[in-house]
Order: sequence, then C-alpha cells, then structure tokens
Amino acid sequence: MIPFLDLHKINARFEDAFTAKFKSFLDSGHYILGQEVETFEQNLANYCGSRHCIGVANGLDALTLIFKAYLQLGKLAEGDEVLVPSNTYIASILAVINAGLKPVFVEPDAQTFNMAPSEIEKHISPKTKVILVVHLYGQLADMDVINRIAKEQDLLVVEDAAQAHGAVANSKNEIPNSKMEKAGNLGNAAGFSFYPSKNLGALGDAGAITTNDGALAIALRLLRNYGSSKKYVNSTLGVNSRLDELQAAFLNIKLKQLDADNERRRAIAKRYSSEVKNEKISLPFYDGSNNHVFHLYVIQVEDRAHFIKHLETEGIGYLIHYPIAPHQQEALSAYQHLSLPIAEKLQQTVLSLPMSPVMSEIEIETVIASINRY
Ligand SMILES: *Cc1c(COP(=O)(O)O)cnc(C)c1O
Repeated sequence: MIPFLDLHKINARFEDAFTAKFKSFLDSGHYILGQEVETFEQNLANYCGSRHCIGVANGLDALTLIFKAYLQLGKLAEGDEVLVPSNTYIASILAVINAGLKPVFVEPDAQTFNMAPSEIEKHISPKTKVILVVHLYGQLADMDVINRIAKEQDLLVVEDAAQAHGAVANSKNEIPNSKMEKAGNLGNAAGFSFYPSKNLGALGDAGAITTNDGALAIALRLLRNYGSSKKYVNSTLGVNSRLDELQAAFLNIKLKQLDADNERRRAIAKRYSSEVKNEKISLPFYDGSNNHVFHLYVIQVEDRAHFIKHLETEGIGYLIHYPIAPHQQEALSAYQHLSLPIAEKLQQTVLSLPMSPVMSEIEIETVIASINRY
C-alpha cells in the first residue's frame, strides 16, 4: 500500500529536535505569544522577503483577519466584492463571507487550474475591491498580469498562499531583489496555513500573515489578540487567533527543511510528468521553474470512478481536490444558480497522486508503473 501522504514519516525526521524543543518549552513556563512565535514571525518574514509577519491560529483566520483589518482601516467596506477562483478550497470563500464581503467567482484556466487573467476583467464591477489569488496546488498564479490589472483598477491583491510556501515567481518584470518574488510577497498581504499536510506543516493548527503594509500589520497584531497590545487594554474589537507557541517552535525547526522538501517534490513531479505515459491520463501543466512547489500533483482522467477502482485494487493512495465545486456546496447554496463550467468539469476529473518529500524511489516507480498499466 502506498499512502497518499505519510505524515508520521514526514515528522519523524525531526523527532529528536522536536523532543528537545518540547522539553525546553515545558521548562520555560511561557506558553502563549513568547519567543518562539516572535522568532517564527521573523523567520517567515525573512524567508518570504516581506517586512511583517503575524502568526495566527490557522489559514482560514489568516485570510479572514486580513479582510477584517482592511475593514477596520477603512480600505474596505461591508458588501465590497472580492474576486475568488471558482475551483478553490472552500476556506478562501469562507474568509470573504465571514468578513462580511461578497465573493465573485472567477473561472480558472483549465491548464494551470489558477484564476484565468482574461476572466478577471469580465467580473470587475464598481464594487470590486480585492482580487483573492489562490496559488492552487502549489503553483503561483499569473501575478504579473494580476498585479497589472489590480494596479489599473485600483484593487487590493490578497494571496491565499496556503498551498504555496516557498514558490518563487519567474517574473518577466525585472525585480532586483529575488526574495521579493516569493509566495507571500506578491500582493498586498498573504495568508498561510500550516495545517499538518501543507508543505510547511505544524503538528496541529497554525497560520500566518505576511505583508509589507505597516498599518495593516499593526491592525492585525491587535486583531489576533483581543484588539489588545497591552494586557487588559483593548483598543479594537479583536478575536483570539494567536499562533500557538509550541506550534511556532516546531515550525521554526521545520522551516529550515522547506526548500529541500520543495526541491524533492519537484523532482518527484518531474518523474511523474516524464514517465507517466497513458493517453487516458492528462498531466498537470508545469513550466519547469520554481514557481511550483507541488503541494499536490493533480492529474485529470475522464472516467475517474473507473480509474479509482484500478488504484484501489493496486493499493495506490489518492485524494480528490476537490470533489464538489464551492458554489455547489450546500453551505454556499446562495451561489448554486451560477454556471461555472470549468470548475464543474474539474471537480469531476481531477485526482491527486501520492506526493510528499519522504516518498521512496520504489514508491514513485510503483505509482508510475501502476498508472501506465491502467
Ligand atoms: C488549507 C487551506 C486553507 C485553510 O487553512 P486552515 O489552516 O485549514 O484553516 C485555505 N486555503 C487553501 C487554498 C488551503 O489549501
């Protein structure tokens, strides 16, 4: 049996470091918003090349709080429209709705699975204020074009970078500092998730926001901690969405491994892309650059139910990202009337193959051989 993702094997690599860290964490007696959170915020900001990083409780909160902070700062108003990809994970859309804003669904490019720039302009109305870009499956969206449209139309760009930690833009615009081109630093603000299965995953829930906007960073620091910068003094209406100190400690250890892990994911993806040869299977678009960190390797197959039977017989793990398009979810019934044919088609054909930095050569070969036998 080849698992879709072996989280224990991923984390077992850090067992000694985690154990030592836990002991000193326990001994410290300081368990909320301590040195580890502060260090992780600095580490992630440096890693992304962004000025500020604010640790929060999870990826959904990261996105929701960005919108709430913009509302507090008067840059957004209730009911403003946010463009979101129609084929994203539901969290992107919930963040918009939970902040009192209105999601407007934009179809993806069927090749890259990312928001199609040509579709964006069609959906811009006088109420549009934000483009929420999702770097789906780990591949950066077309940020050159998206940022150009945003500039022309005076829109904010928020990145949902939950699947794209470490992806680097191969921008055609010459940006001198290459650090400036990483996921998390390609718009006005970005939300990260460190859910255990992400490329950088905690041992529980965790999230962060990166931005170069100082006023936004200040508002977010207050928001995530009861609107308070000083204990028992509350200046804004906040929430409790702090990054857990222990999770930050684990993330500080794991961040050092992220680039090597992403490199390994790309190597596996390259093997899949060159060695899977089956005309019933469509392989994902990949330009060969570091703009993709292969959070997921997503193929398409017309008769997916039949292919799944084959994988199950052969003991190959898989998942579907995602089986129901957001606008067809019961929770989003207000959007059920929309016709979004690309998202609707993708939900029926996509399938994610086993992908993780700890897959063995034999596991990779077994997956490839099994698909080629289908
Ligand atoms: C995982 C994920 C989120 C949400 O992250 P949580 O930490 O689970 O709240 C948001 N957007 C995308 C695209 C994700 O994959």
